[in-house]
Amino acid sequence: MEHLESTHTTPGEERALRVAAMDPAVHAERVQWMHDYVVSVHERYRGLDGGEPASYIPELAMVEPDHFGISVLTTDGQGNGVGDVGVEFSIQSISKVLVYGLALEALGRERVLERVGVEPSGERFNAIVLDEESNRPFNPMVNAGAIAVSDLVPGATPADRLALVLEVFRRYLGHPVEIDWDVYRSEKSTGNRNRAIAYLMLSKGIIDDRVDETLDLYVAQCSVKVTAADLALIGATLANAGVNPLTGEVALERQYVRDVLSVSLTCGMYDYSGEWAYRVGLPAKSGVGGGIMAVLPGMGGLGVYSPRLDHLGNSARGIAVCEDMSEDLGVHIFAPEDSWLTAYRQIDTPVPSPRGR
Ligand code: GLN
Repeated sequence: MEHLESTHTTPGEERALRVAAMDPAVHAERVQWMHDYVVSVHERYRGLDGGEPASYIPELAMVEPDHFGISVLTTDGQGNGVGDVGVEFSIQSISKVLVYGLALEALGRERVLERVGVEPSGERFNAIVLDEESNRPFNPMVNAGAIAVSDLVPGATPADRLALVLEVFRRYLGHPVEIDWDVYRSEKSTGNRNRAIAYLMLSKGIIDDRVDETLDLYVAQCSVKVTAADLALIGATLANAGVNPLTGEVALERQYVRDVLSVSLTCGMYDYSGEWAYRVGLPAKSGVGGGIMAVLPGMGGLGVYSPRLDHLGNSARGIAVCEDMSEDLGVHIFAPEDSWLTAYRQIDTPVPSPRGR
């Protein structure tokens, strides 16, 4: 796995060229417009206080439930953050996206597909269930699939495997990452469901006979500390053909970006995924820590943090914010209307007002 500078032009570089050719006053107006818009969405949902932080991992219940941050970053590196965008929380299931990409790079598409499918499960994220025909977990975004993917992470020792995972996270985030060891210990001491899933997969020959080691790796990847700003950067990196728009470093080989994004679109939001694809129409992943990371392909990334979860385990405010932003900005990937998306791509088109507000 060579990780050098990208040799392809990225969407961010293309946009940066168009921005450079733009009247600076018009550009400044657009930057201000986006900022005002993000502030308005934050205000709209600040009072939404339904749901509770996850508590099945006891340490997750210790967070400040009303923290709320929204961060947007374009593929050419223009950022907007409002609210608690610097507050750290554990990445949890959003790690599944990054480690899936790592496994694809290490083993290639076919070998990964032998172990983990790409079919939405329609089940809870922690269901103890495998595809009956193939014995594979349904997809890499449910716990079973993610544990099978963690088993595929190469390395001679447990420490080597964890170091590789953390190195991949560093490429997305542009800075070294740390594990929240309290969250890690809390999940390790309560994670019997994941243990059951892992032993079921061992019995079917889906994972190797090193269950404790693989579960430790999985729990460690879930316990990595991130902020809403970090999530926006992960999203912007995936939106930018796998190249981190702030550092220029390749976080994911370009050929695997589409695999990661299509599975995120169809399976990323637990058993809300179908409705999410319908309403929001963006590849995304949520975590029980309260984060949502969404990808606006070619355009940028969105990170929301608000730890009160709805009954499916998604951040309640996060879902509301993403639904509105998709609609207001017209960025549903299948929406054919003229929108902020068109304006974004063609820089010289006026930015339309957010729809319906
Ligand atoms: N570490 C958590 C678990 O395995 C991740 C779940 C999630 O964020 N949905 O239960």
